[in-house]
Amino acid sequence: MRSLFSIVLLMVLGSALAYKSYSGYQVLKSAPLTAASMPYINRLSKHFDFWGTPGVGRPATVMVSPEQAPLVVAAFNRMRISHEVLIPDLGPEVERERLEREALEVAHSMKPREAVYDRYMSCQEIHHYMRDLSAAYPEIATGIIFANGTEGHKVKGIKISNGNVGQKALWFDCAIHAREWITPPVCLRIIDEVIADPALRDLADWYILPVANPDGYNYSITTDRFWRKTRSPNPDPDCPGTDPNRNFDFLWDAGNPTDYCSEVYPGTNAFSEPEVSGIGNFILDIADSLVLYVAIHSYGEQILYPYGHTVEPVPNVDQLIAAGTASADAIAAVAGTTYTVENSASGLYFTYGASDDFAYGRGAVQYAYTYELSGGGSAGFDPPASLIQPVVDEVWPGIKALVDYVLAN
Ligand SMILES: [Zn+2]
Repeated sequence: MRSLFSIVLLMVLGSALAYKSYSGYQVLKSAPLTAASMPYINRLSKHFDFWGTPGVGRPATVMVSPEQAPLVVAAFNRMRISHEVLIPDLGPEVERERLEREALEVAHSMKPREAVYDRYMSCQEIHHYMRDLSAAYPEIATGIIFANGTEGHKVKGIKISNGNVGQKALWFDCAIHAREWITPPVCLRIIDEVIADPALRDLADWYILPVANPDGYNYSITTDRFWRKTRSPNPDPDCPGTDPNRNFDFLWDAGNPTDYCSEVYPGTNAFSEPEVSGIGNFILDIADSLVLYVAIHSYGEQILYPYGHTVEPVPNVDQLIAAGTASADAIAAVAGTTYTVENSASGLYFTYGASDDFAYGRGAVQYAYTYELSGGGSAGFDPPASLIQPVVDEVWPGIKALVDYVLAN
């Protein structure tokens, strides 16, 4: 009995000790940015962890360690950007969230496998759910392994199709940035809807990838809540990982190739990350039939369209805006949440090697978007589990409206 108690105690202590403490970390928030400040913000964002998408007219939100805080404050002061401390200490927030999540996991451990929307599912649970779907509906649901992450987690998605010949195809991926936990539930909701409704499958073939960065997602759950990148090793052992959404083979930019610690480190070369090359090459393989590419991220309540490196309008910009607006209207109709429809670079925050630009620029997919969902919790990445259902309930009609527009035009 005593030894069992010791083992349980060790497990509890072990899980707490293994989890990265954010004690002393702060979140700073600036005043809305001006165009004049954006070149500085673009540079700063290569070295510090900016949350959301900074841009003209929007505040910048940046998470800083105790060592980074004076550097960022000094930089803001030099640029005359006024700012405030949004969260004075992230430590207790992260710890409270971890305890809440673990309690919900225990409460659910006896339930059968299904997609649930009242807590965050692990990668393993999501993969089991997809495996069960392909077993239960073999005629319409097919699991697809796109790659293995460097830590061995499978990049696993699902194709849902009635098998109609010559049909158009749609693509959705979630959680390519590990910490954006609110995104996989949206992919799971799309799966649930398409499995349940044969009419949706007669519209198109659906490719859905709920966890595009499973190594990172798993690590964000077990070890470090705010992990964003992949888990591939770098020469600096203290700073593993590459930003997978800067690693696609389109206008890939080496940026700061030796700054491995950057949250937007783009990797040694385009497609250096197995997750990214697996996804990217698959998209090129189905590009002839693919009419819609959607990457789901958080946060910002934005529907972003290409390109991320320039504000020059793309040829079908009017259609991209019209389809995005139809989607935003459908989202707003549910509970009034306002998503803005914008060019990725309209806030003068520039990106290279992102997945939507790759699908549009390399794959010639006519409609390509990045959705930034609602935030929550510690001012951003950790909406409490109670927000999953409302977010999913408003975003699904937005996805449906987007699909309807794209297939009709
Ligand atoms: Zn993201």
